[in-house]
Amino acid sequence: MNMQKTDLIAKLKKTYPEINIEFSDDYKWSPSSNTVFIPKKYEPSYLLHEFGHGLCNHKDYDLAIDLVRHEQEAWDKAYELAKKFKVKIKDDLVADSMTSYYTWLHKRAICPKCHEEGLEIEKNSYKCFFCNCSWKVNEARQCNIKRTILKD
Ligand SMILES: [Zn+2]
Ligand SMILES: [Zn+2]
Repeated sequence: MNMQKTDLIAKLKKTYPEINIEFSDDYKWSPSSNTVFIPKKYEPSYLLHEFGHGLCNHKDYDLAIDLVRHEQEAWDKAYELAKKFKVKIKDDLVADSMTSYYTWLHKRAICPKCHEEGLEIEKNSYKCFFCNCSWKVNEARQCNIKRTILKD
């Protein structure tokens, strides 16, 4: 672990003592324990993203659109933190992450009968106003960024 990275965790802990940082296999924000989980070999962009969830006080979401909104807010916050702590956010990681969320959001909303875009009327339940079809989706999704192996 290089100096700059060790430094970033120390600075975050000092500035925001209310948010815990712990090592784990994956990147994750846990609202119940107020803890950001990151792998030992972590990417600072993702650390700041998860920290962004924490500072925005994000809890569980109801509708898929809320999750995607949370994702965007967490990245916005991550950019603020990056500026403050002089760290570089990798823009391509942000773009990839948001694209995958928008793809997920769009896919689950497509009517299985007429292929128009339906509306999520309650968590995981959709309705199409073109053909009146209703359907459920069961794919749960969290902010849980896939583990990326980093080269030193
Ligand atoms: Zn339809
Ligand atoms: Zn997230």
